[in-house]
Formats: sequence, C-alpha cells, structure tokens
Amino acid sequence: MARILITSGPTRQYLDPVRFLTNASSGQMGCALAAAALAQGHAVVVVSGPVQLEYPPAARLVHVVSTDEMLAACQREFSGCDGLIAAAAPCDYRPQQVAEQKLAKTGQPLLLELIETPDIVATLAVEKRPAQWLVGFALETHERRRRALQKLQKKSCDLIVLNGPQAINADANAVEVLDRHGAVVLAAEGAKASVARQIFELIERSLIRPHGACDS
Ligand code: C5P
Repeated sequence: MARILITSGPTRQYLDPVRFLTNASSGQMGCALAAAALAQGHAVVVVSGPVQLEYPPAARLVHVVSTDEMLAACQREFSGCDGLIAAAAPCDYRPQQVAEQKLAKTGQPLLLELIETPDIVATLAVEKRPAQWLVGFALETHERRRRALQKLQKKSCDLIVLNGPQAINADANAVEVLDRHGAVVLAAEGAKASVARQIFELIERSLIRPHGACDS
C-alpha cells in the first residue's frame, strides 16, 4: 500500500474581502484519481481548493483556499507520503495588496499588481526524499508536448499528464502522459473516471511497483 498525496481543484487569491482571482477547475480529475487510488487499496490525502463536489469519504481531506495555503498543507502532508499527484490548478498569481475593506468604485481604471505565487510541485521537488515520486499536470493550448516536457523538467516530475483547456470543468478528458524522456507512455480519452483509472494504473506500474514487487 502506498500513501498518496493528491492536489485538486482551483485556489483563490482575494483582492478584498469579497473578490478573488480563480479559475474554473472543478476538482473532478483529482476526485477521480483519489477514487482510482483508493480502489487499489492505497491511502489517499487530498489537499483541495474550494470545489462543489464531494471527495470519496475514504480519502483524508484537507481544505485550503489560497496557493500559499495549498503549499503549506502539502509541505506538512508530503513527508508522510510516497508520492504526489498534482491535479490542482493553483492560481499562479496573487494581488500584491489585499484590501482590508471592499474596494469601492471610483470611476477610474483599477490597476492590480500581481505577483507570482510559489510553485507547489517545484517546491516539493526540492524538499523530497529520493524515493518519493511526483506526477504533474500540464494544460497546454499549443506546442503541447514540448511545453509539457519543459514543465516536467522544470518541476522535476517523473511523469506529466498533458491535457487541453477542454478538460476544465468537464466530465470527460483526453490526455497524453509523458515520461522524463518525452516519450508518450499513455494516451487515454473518455470519462474522467476511466482516464483517471488508466493514469493511476500507469503510476502503479511505473512508480509504485516499478519492479513488479507485490505487497506481502
Ligand atoms: O505551470 P503550470 O501551472 O501549467 O503547471 C501545472 C502543474 O503544476 C500542475 O501539476 C499543477 O498542479 C502544478 N502547479 C503547482 N503550483 C502552482 C501552479 C501549478 O504545483 N503554483
């Protein structure tokens, strides 16, 4: 049995007490991956941003709001895990200033200064033990394989799941999974539950039990 950390859903970056930046990630892929891992008898911790769906009750769930909170929760959880599947879509930017009171209209343009948030996968890659594995996601619109491989390398992932914008907030997905050499080791299409099962089978085969070892 492996212990697996899964990040899922979007994060939010507030500009004032009521307004925030986010994206349309629904958490469905993270949820489907959690179900696939649990079905194979693994222990799962899900660190999720705000979503509408319910994760499998057998997963331990940690709720977060911002990218910094997601990173802090992952840093706490990852040391007790064997690997990470980073299916979340954390906000890459946050407003430099967060207003304490609701921003009022002035009749003038409002300029927001945004600064980059930390990259969770890249941060865990630096902190990880040699035996721990990392699987990232890349959502690309063009030069898809090249950009996904660049991300895999930059974030020191073992595998990267490449998908397109049609994956966001949808029930179905079409993915390719690339290994460190850029080889396409899986192509899968269909309902997210089925795609997640195929991705997880690959993770099990190549990262959890790479030498065909079985639990005793
Ligand atoms: O760079 P990009 O956001 O496209 O990379 C996607 C991958 O990186 C996903 O696995 C996502 O969960 C992860 N990511 C992260 N921390 C961020 C942004 C993305 O871990 N701040």
